[in-house]
Amino acid sequence: MPRVRIDRDRCKGCGLCVNNCPQSVLEMSKEINAKGYFYSSPVRQHHCIGCRICAIVCPDVAIEVAVNGIQYHYFAY
Ligand code: SF4
Ligand code: SF4
Repeated sequence: MPRVRIDRDRCKGCGLCVNNCPQSVLEMSKEINAKGYFYSSPVRQHHCIGCRICAIVCPDVAIEVAVNGIQYHYFAY
């Protein structure tokens, strides 16, 4: 099953990942991160299809997706 991981302290709360996920996996948290932003959180992880759209659209490369044992790293960009 695909796994989504969000580095919450890199998130600036823009909502792009939430708005572009075709499976409505992500939602904005009601808590704030170290920068003072509401951050994205994978609240319906089990609905994830591993498409990586969330990771690709994130302007702050705060999202990693693992699909079929392959970890797609975007944090290092
Ligand atoms: S990988 Fe695709 S389905 Fe999974 S959370 Fe990201 S956008 Fe949604
Ligand atoms: S696209 Fe990136 S910066 Fe924007 S809410 Fe999602 S994780 Fe945060």
